[in-house]
Amino acid sequence: MKLNELTITQAAAGLRKREFSSVDLTMACIATIREKDPEIHAFLDVFEEDAMAQAKQADELLADFNPKLPHLLGIPLAIKDNILMEGRHCTAGSLMLKDYTASYDASVVRALKKAGAILIGKTNMDEFAMGSSTENSAFGITKNPHDITRVPGGSSGGSATAVATEMAFGALGSDTGGSIRQPASFCGIVGMKPSYGSVSRHGLIAMASSLDQIGPMAKTVEDAEIIWHAIAGIDAFDSTTVMKPDSQARSIKEIKNLRIGLPIEYMREGLDNDVKDVILNNIKKMEHAGARVEEIHLSHSSYALAAYYIIVPSEVSSNLARFDGIRYGMSRDKEDTLMARYTATRGSGFGKEVKRRIMLGTYALSAGYYDAYYLKAQKVRQLIQHDFDSVFNSGIDIIVGPTTPTPAFTFGEKANDPLSMYLADIYTVAVNLAGLPALSMSAGTVARGNTQLPVGLQLIAPRDGEHQLFAIAKEIEQLR
Ligand code: GLN
Repeated sequence: MKLNELTITQAAAGLRKREFSSVDLTMACIATIREKDPEIHAFLDVFEEDAMAQAKQADELLADFNPKLPHLLGIPLAIKDNILMEGRHCTAGSLMLKDYTASYDASVVRALKKAGAILIGKTNMDEFAMGSSTENSAFGITKNPHDITRVPGGSSGGSATAVATEMAFGALGSDTGGSIRQPASFCGIVGMKPSYGSVSRHGLIAMASSLDQIGPMAKTVEDAEIIWHAIAGIDAFDSTTVMKPDSQARSIKEIKNLRIGLPIEYMREGLDNDVKDVILNNIKKMEHAGARVEEIHLSHSSYALAAYYIIVPSEVSSNLARFDGIRYGMSRDKEDTLMARYTATRGSGFGKEVKRRIMLGTYALSAGYYDAYYLKAQKVRQLIQHDFDSVFNSGIDIIVGPTTPTPAFTFGEKANDPLSMYLADIYTVAVNLAGLPALSMSAGTVARGNTQLPVGLQLIAPRDGEHQLFAIAKEIEQLR
């Protein structure tokens, strides 16, 4: 067995028993990157030398036995390229930021460095995190390791494939409408979107600030929990952050005592039949384990995508206004007038999908249309939040369902049809609109031709219910 095939928990235990060193772990990841990444293209940048230097330091700390050493000490992780690392390029998958070097560490990066993690590289993504396939990166596609003719999902497709191919033990992604959970589902790994406010967004290149959250991607639920624990909590640089929910303070229920809600709206037309079978199979196992599974209604589900695709472009149009070639981003400086410079910079720096959203958002926010679109979408957002509130208030502990309506699709299948691409997020966006924590974990596979493609099971918990979410997910992992 290669060392990079271990989970974070196993690697951390091995490091403490001196079975191997952090240098060994890092070398194993680098060897796999060299072998597999020319084809997969998970990484935009790999920090071989720096990673090895960090690993040596970690080994020195590990040599001096101390039971309080953080779990992530000496463990190689990958970072999505919309999260700033001081002194490193941070492109967010856009030509606009091709030559941008970050001048500080994002708070999550600072937290991981403090925990002693080895930050091995930056991963590919859809431009400014807009997309569901990583085809919108300005720097080339990333391939699904289960079938290289298929997309890895997006926008955190690089992080998902880096973990799935064991080029890193875990990774950070960001999730505005599904960008952690959907690629996790397509690549057969665990991806978790924390409650809004659980993890600092300071140093994350903003897409839609009222929805964005950074979260962990890993091989197991326990590994994802370890990473979440290292990055969650209050941060003076992000006023939306809240205290980490304390595990001791809350009683965690076992699966046999749970009331599980299955949303009828998530199991209807549009859901691939094979995916549906895999999900229902998992539900049966939970029932066998003693859980009470009840059909529930999230009545406004059918409006979630429409509301999301008004709110997100609106926030995008305002957040991305700063990339004008003067304040931020690349600059076309051959133009004579300021206006010409703006248009040349934005015209050539942004890709198609980003431009589409800036235009849609500017329209939705403009005088005369604001009430009809943006305000209406915010009202729908409230109704969606109420749907979740009433389900959880009725005593349901957790909601389960599919993460995505289909397994990974092929390159080009949806790239020219934005609406069909948007539909890939039909089960994930409502969670962001409501600010809830949710996790996608592998539920099984479906056959497509000669290949087996992973299917993700999504678990949705009440706000700040991270501990319960991880506990249930771990039990479900055991059932499989
Ligand atoms: N695919 C969704 C979108 O394009 C979600 C993106 C994300 O979560 N960053 O908006």
